[in-house]
Amino acid sequence: MQYDLVIAGNLRRSSSGEMRDVLNPYDGRPFASVPVGTREDAAAAVEAARRAFTDGPWPRMSPGERSNLLWRLADRIEAEIERLARIDALNVGKPIKLAQYSDLPFSVDNLRFFAAAARQLEGRAAGEYDGAHTSWTRREPVGVVASIAPWNYPFMMAVWKIGPALAAGNTVVLKPAPLTPVSSLELGRLALEVGLPEGVLNVITGGDEVGAYLVSHPDVAMVSLTGATETGQKVMAAAGVKRMHLELGGKAPLLVFDDADLAEAAQAAAVATVVNSGQDCTAATRVYVHASRFDELVDLLRQRLATVRTGDPLQPTTDMGPLVSADQKERVAGFVSRAVGAGAEALVGAQPGDGLFYPPTLLVGAQQRSEIVQTEVFGPVIVCLPFRDEAEAIALANDVQYGLAASLFTRDHARALRVSAALRFGDVWINDHLPLASEMPHGGFGRSGVGNDLSAYALDDYTKVKHVMSSLGHQVVKPWHFTVIGDIPSEG
Ligand code: NAD
Repeated sequence: MQYDLVIAGNLRRSSSGEMRDVLNPYDGRPFASVPVGTREDAAAAVEAARRAFTDGPWPRMSPGERSNLLWRLADRIEAEIERLARIDALNVGKPIKLAQYSDLPFSVDNLRFFAAAARQLEGRAAGEYDGAHTSWTRREPVGVVASIAPWNYPFMMAVWKIGPALAAGNTVVLKPAPLTPVSSLELGRLALEVGLPEGVLNVITGGDEVGAYLVSHPDVAMVSLTGATETGQKVMAAAGVKRMHLELGGKAPLLVFDDADLAEAAQAAAVATVVNSGQDCTAATRVYVHASRFDELVDLLRQRLATVRTGDPLQPTTDMGPLVSADQKERVAGFVSRAVGAGAEALVGAQPGDGLFYPPTLLVGAQQRSEIVQTEVFGPVIVCLPFRDEAEAIALANDVQYGLAASLFTRDHARALRVSAALRFGDVWINDHLPLASEMPHGGFGRSGVGNDLSAYALDDYTKVKHVMSSLGHQVVKPWHFTVIGDIPSEG
């Protein structure tokens, strides 16, 4: 199937006229063909978004009208869930059941949340704060948003980005990751079909250099990136003075206390290792277990990982597909072999599979300061380490540059409260790991990012607060003017 860019309300080829095959990582075969996006395409998309913001109807529509269009888009996506899920399964190599029963339904729910929230955007204050004026606040869109997405959850990440941006009245240029552009191009086309005005949502393709061009474009008012922490660093340096929304890497700890239900903790750790082949920013990557239960937990986790079924992502019985690319496989294998070289022991996995498969891998004996414990791998690799007491568990969990997600397993309510408060992560789960809700924020502490996806907090990120102040009288010389021109009034 051949796809087009979506620019200024039109489906079009790239300025270069070039097309590129998109490969299925499971069998290496092309399953779609997309235009090779260029800087010229990015420039045209920014110009379309700028015009739509400055002169078009979108930011001027009533919230109800904007909401209806976003709702219609959500309905349209819902009607096509199976087709869209298949595209992401083919493009990423992710199991169809993950795409169809998680990514896509959550995207629909998320878009509906923001469609509804569009009608609830409010300034928080109105009053006579200085006695002589009435002041109020307005929430206004920021302008043209450059939304730059990663490859791990192509459709869901695109929706997380456009939902709050569009609900708030911004216009968007969406650039999916070069490996996984297909479902985002579908999203752009569906948005046109349900009647989003031209230029409101533009979808282009292109590599990192097209992203870099977008980020530094003077007509882009806000950059929203989901990607690696290193990319966030580069984008921040290049963007200049712009609103920044960054959802970056993670290295989630999962803490297992001595009173935990170990079967529950081991199951959660297995699920959160294998999800999306571990290519998930909230994946459990470091399991810290109370020393008295360490061997027991490791044994249970080993058993759970042994039941994971790898294979064709389109088969409903497949739990884990291949990694997304040869580069990603090399990266994951490199991390594991360096960890083993540095003294870690692989109890499960660690042998690269056929094609782009890499098995679930369980490591023990790594040092806290070693690379495998400190750096995001983005593959199905989990490291187990022991701790002696609560204070040490918290210190080890917090001892990374990232701060996206963490979890703890205990039956002690007071401990759950203490530890959840002490963990420096944006999502903290108690007796579970991974689930999110559209109503609740998702955003990183530390070098995992700036701002939040999901929830009303995302709307804050995609809006500017304006203070409007109206004089209560028409005096030519206002009582405070003497501080600039005129004499100080005499006392009394
Ligand atoms: P990446 O950083 O390589 O690329 C992400 C996007 O940024 C791509 O579209 C890419 O083309 C673009 N890009 C790269 N360099 C750029 C530059 N200099 N200027 C502008 N754009 C640039 O990330 P990836 O490999 O696609 O995705 C994996 C990363 O994403 C992981 O680190 C993962 O943790 C992170 N991630 C975070 C979240 C979250 O919610 N925090 C969610 C998903 C993925």
